[in-house]
Amino acid sequence: MSYKRISFEIKDKVAFVGFGHNDSKAMTVLDEETLTELRDIVEEIHTKTSELDGVIFHSHKERCFLAGADITLISSMQTESDGQAGAEAGQKIFNRIEDLKIPTVACVHGVCLGGGLELSLSCKTILISDDKATALGLPEVKLGIIPGFGGTYRLPKKVGLPTALDMILTGKTLNSRKAKKLGLAREVFPKERLIEQAPKFFKDNDKKSSFKDSIEDLVTDNVLTKKVIFQKARESVLKKTKGFYQAPLKILDVMEAGVLKGRSSYLQSESQAFGELCVGEQSKNLQHIYFMTEKVKKYSGPKGEGKAPKLERGACLGAGTMGGGIAWLMAKNNMFPIMKDINYDGIELGLKQASKNFSGAVKRKRMSKDDFERKMRSISGQTDYRGFKRVDLVIEAIVENMDIKKSVFSEVEKEVKPETILTSNTSSLSIQEMSTALEDSSRFAGLHFFNPVHLMPLVEIITHDNVSPETVEALYNWVLKSKKTPVVVKDGPGFLVNRILMPFMNEAGFLLEEGVSMKDIDDACLNFGMPMGPCRLLDEVGVDVGQKVAKIIHDGLGDRAKASTLSGKLVEKGFLGKKTSKGFYIYDEKGKVVGPNEEALALFPKATKKMSEVEIQKRVFLPMINEAATVLEDKIVDNASDVDLGLIFGIGFPPFRGGLLKYADSEGIERIHDELVKHAESVDADRYTPCELIKTLVKDKKKFYEL
Ligand code: NAD
Repeated sequence: MSYKRISFEIKDKVAFVGFGHNDSKAMTVLDEETLTELRDIVEEIHTKTSELDGVIFHSHKERCFLAGADITLISSMQTESDGQAGAEAGQKIFNRIEDLKIPTVACVHGVCLGGGLELSLSCKTILISDDKATALGLPEVKLGIIPGFGGTYRLPKKVGLPTALDMILTGKTLNSRKAKKLGLAREVFPKERLIEQAPKFFKDNDKKSSFKDSIEDLVTDNVLTKKVIFQKARESVLKKTKGFYQAPLKILDVMEAGVLKGRSSYLQSESQAFGELCVGEQSKNLQHIYFMTEKVKKYSGPKGEGKAPKLERGACLGAGTMGGGIAWLMAKNNMFPIMKDINYDGIELGLKQASKNFSGAVKRKRMSKDDFERKMRSISGQTDYRGFKRVDLVIEAIVENMDIKKSVFSEVEKEVKPETILTSNTSSLSIQEMSTALEDSSRFAGLHFFNPVHLMPLVEIITHDNVSPETVEALYNWVLKSKKTPVVVKDGPGFLVNRILMPFMNEAGFLLEEGVSMKDIDDACLNFGMPMGPCRLLDEVGVDVGQKVAKIIHDGLGDRAKASTLSGKLVEKGFLGKKTSKGFYIYDEKGKVVGPNEEALALFPKATKKMSEVEIQKRVFLPMINEAATVLEDKIVDNASDVDLGLIFGIGFPPFRGGLLKYADSEGIERIHDELVKHAESVDADRYTPCELIKTLVKDKKKFYEL
């Protein structure tokens, strides 16, 4: 019998099952056809076991063994029983692999995730390549689901309960060194020798042999010890997720209740949990984010006549907080960056910043000391324009002042090649206006990074009337290559993220003025799922910086964006936030919150007003939704998913809610509209007056995601 998706041949009494048997460049996934073929192949092998010495599962792809189940298949599940049946179908195939009476070896080279690892776990032996591309893991929890093809049943048997829980509950992946060390893989070989080595393991029973391993097994096999392990895991999940995420808790329930169960009854509870979770709102929201991020991986903006240039050499102007981070990013991407500042003190700070970012990777053993030194040496700190003629991309990150930036751009334009792309990392100044400083503004754009550069994934690419499509496309591709998430944004006050963040911060000021306590405000936002409350966030950004940006946005958008005067009082007293150890809160020398800053609180009206958590949440998030709708009205971005992606990756809007506009859609636009109207009257403020787009959506009975 011949198969399309999977190669199957028998050579010298060995059955070879090869995934990725097609020309497609895409990762191999377990879609419906592949699963059907796999089922048939496994059944065929069952009929031939007497003629076979063993089975080898391998892949034809350069960097992928099996990337997991097809997520479109998961997202197409409409009911719990659909989901459960889907999981059961996969479980059945993997059980049949596990039940083969002959040796089975998974030769894993490249990505081996989710269903791919679950398949490997059903083999008697897992061999892996020592290639950088090899990564093994069960990332299902990140989609709000439980691994449904027997992964939670088989992984603990392979690596022990604590390691299995850690992998399953975090969704982390292991490289080959770690996979071997933790006992997930039996042996590691160069990729070219993997298949040739496999038959040598046909007689191998892959039992742990070391004394330490057997003691560990004895300890973790004890029921009481298991109880403690589960308890600790549950505590850690609750601490990390604050109880917002259902999947890790459900996974723990299934695994704990299954401790003494046999295979079939265990797998039944796993598939049932899969069915429940995969159609739940939370998983649907996380799947939505997955699809949004997949979409972002391809540039879909306007294409020009010319070719988008490749940006291989970079320079950064200004070596401060942002410049140091940007130079780090460029060095990481082998761009041999030039970091130019007006003085050597600045350069020293920038180099320190870059070194701090790299040293994290060295500590986590993701980078060798040699590489670290090589990368650091590749950054050239200087105060002049030497070498700028070789640069393809310049990112300006100097002081936030329009006149200074303009004069620097007209200066730098003379120092670079005509094709060099020039960008500004300004967080609030008009890109349109800045572009007038250049002779040729078609190769100029905003490139707005978030602080700290090494942790924040979002980069806004800000366009203006004269920017060329090639420039936008080149920047988009460069941001992607730098492993960041690009979003193309039209110029306007606060661009995308800061504009929608502004009501979040402003509202905190108004609530404080009304006598609501800072604790109640920040707690209500934390309990909504935000990573920080607005007062804490203002401290992080810098109260003075927040105040400046708020003024620019107010000037640009009018009175609906007016800020409260409270920040000004803090700035006057020098309470600028974390950087001065005092803001709304007090910070220790490590930057940890010690407690509220009572001196600052004394500047506000007495906190005597009790407001319910839900009401505080409405006060804060309704004007954000209203502003996000005006962002769409003003065509700052193309669609609702750009807004949501921006807020999730730019400010950590809770992913389980799917994004601000997805949240608004699920609450119901009519309800949002009515609440806005109610608040426009009770709070007596413009920022609650529903914008035209919201009114139109209500009239047309549409959602943001149906625009
Ligand atoms: P910073 O004050 O830490 O650093 C600015 C650096 O620029 C200083 O080292 C200064 O010596 C140098 N500089 C000043 N004039 C210069 C010139 N003519 N040529 C070369 N270097 C010059 O500032 P930062 O916080 O890194 O901010 C830089 C830019 O990034 C600003 O436009 C800011 O709005 C933007 N930004 C900042 C953040 C943030 O959170 N800090 C976030 C996003 C964007």
